[in-house]
Amino acid sequence: MEEFVTACPRNCYSTCTFRVQVENNRIIRILPYSGNLATPEGPCIKGLSYIERTHSPDRIIHPLIRTSSGKFRESSSNEALEIISDKLGSIIEEWGSPSILWYRGSGMAGLTNDIGSAFWKALGGTTLTYGNLCWPAGLEAVRLTLGSVKHNVPWDLENARTIIIWGKNPAETNIQEIAFITRAKEKGSTIIVIDPLRTTTADKADILFCPRTGTDGALALAIAKTLIDNNLIDREFIGKYVKGFEELKQSLKITLAEAESITGIPEENIIGLAEIIGKKGPVTILPGYGLQRHHNGGQTIRSVLLLSVLTGNIGKPGSGFNYANLQSYIFDELKEPLSYYPDPEKDMPFRRTISMTKLGSDMLNTHDPVLKAAWIERGNPVLQSPDTNSVKKAFSALEFKVVVEQFMTDTASLANIILPAKDIFEQSDILGSYWSPYIQFKPKVIQSPGEVMPESEIYYNLSQRMNMNISTDLIPEPGKIRVFNLTGELISKARISNRVPTGIVMFPNGIWFNEGGGVNRLISAEETDIGFGAAFHDNRVEIERAD
Ligand code: SF4
Repeated sequence: MEEFVTACPRNCYSTCTFRVQVENNRIIRILPYSGNLATPEGPCIKGLSYIERTHSPDRIIHPLIRTSSGKFRESSSNEALEIISDKLGSIIEEWGSPSILWYRGSGMAGLTNDIGSAFWKALGGTTLTYGNLCWPAGLEAVRLTLGSVKHNVPWDLENARTIIIWGKNPAETNIQEIAFITRAKEKGSTIIVIDPLRTTTADKADILFCPRTGTDGALALAIAKTLIDNNLIDREFIGKYVKGFEELKQSLKITLAEAESITGIPEENIIGLAEIIGKKGPVTILPGYGLQRHHNGGQTIRSVLLLSVLTGNIGKPGSGFNYANLQSYIFDELKEPLSYYPDPEKDMPFRRTISMTKLGSDMLNTHDPVLKAAWIERGNPVLQSPDTNSVKKAFSALEFKVVVEQFMTDTASLANIILPAKDIFEQSDILGSYWSPYIQFKPKVIQSPGEVMPESEIYYNLSQRMNMNISTDLIPEPGKIRVFNLTGELISKARISNRVPTGIVMFPNGIWFNEGGGVNRLISAEETDIGFGAAFHDNRVEIERAD
């Protein structure tokens, strides 16, 4: 039995670190890992159920090709990739590469998951989606208000004397946060929940407010006005850090009576809430993503954030507006926009985008060229996107659909070819988080079953078939490489490790010829400057995949 420390790459606040025990290439146990201060209690039920998911008999582990009868049959990876290569090639020749939609969801986070951008760029560009189904109105609201989207470490919640959980249900969506809330409560913190629903988190509250849905902005503005009118604001903080306070003050016209009639929260309760926020600091507000999934979602988030700003509850222990913490969320900047924007020398539109939210109608209304094919990975847009009927219609109308999936989802069931997707334990990767400050290495701990390949391998193999030259810098899986220079060459197994810096290839000594041979076939016989030693390590090589 072996034990590994790994991390959960799901689209989830926590990005839990946990230990996995492996026996005979099977995960047999998942256990907490106390080294991650944000998630010491271990994973959620979903995380614990990864054992069943990974080894589920329902998993797709061989490529599936739709036959003329409409049913799927199993195929080899070679056959599936050959068909995909031919089909994409002919579609590009006739319609151009923007006739292909590359849709990627967020089902599996990690740096290597976006390797596809290099493939599609090398292919000449594609149609992509813009926007996001989850959280962008709030992100933009926080960025516009504070300049960047960050907050204190999750465990700092224990320093708060008031915690306002506004439109969030961490008892189900961010369970590790509940541990900090509980400890804060034990230390005397007041827990306030504001939610139209009586959630499981609401059961833990000292005070519960249930405004009408979509009226949170009005409630926040009424509280803001009460704070200002009753001098419950932090004038020193405002004087130092806030722009536009006087303009805001002039524009805040909402009366308590109006707020009551809009929100359904009685006037005296709005005043009471303002008094707690103004008097019992430090205050941390935990806003949820549901709060901003309204037409007025962005301004709602800005209005609630205003309360933290007016009372100086930003950037101090126990205080903050914990919408998202992008300190460790560095990979988008790494891949965007360089992966997608055209090379400067090419005078052609490289990427075309359609709305992720209006996916179905945008797909149907896209012309010059029309969409002919789609490649879908890490998502199930037929189920997850608004207006399922039009999304289904749009996907059904395409000539060719490739879906990379683990299970027969609603989207996969519409595919022409399904490529089996890796599980979280079957690929090494690097993860950021949008809640804790950690960047984590997630090691591969088991081999994939059947013919499952991570996207990095799929794209690499496809690019070879399509005679493309894409960067394999981000392919971290063990595999064979050809290492060569003017002196010679050797084929060797390779592994990417954080112990070896970028740009360096390191060989251990003593590999006999019958095991592939040693590194000396690449090293020219040159002596050191003094002492007549061998200058082994001044040795330039190139590498390429040799699988
Ligand atoms: S809480 Fe989130 S990050 Fe942790 S195991 Fe569950 S899904 Fe994964």
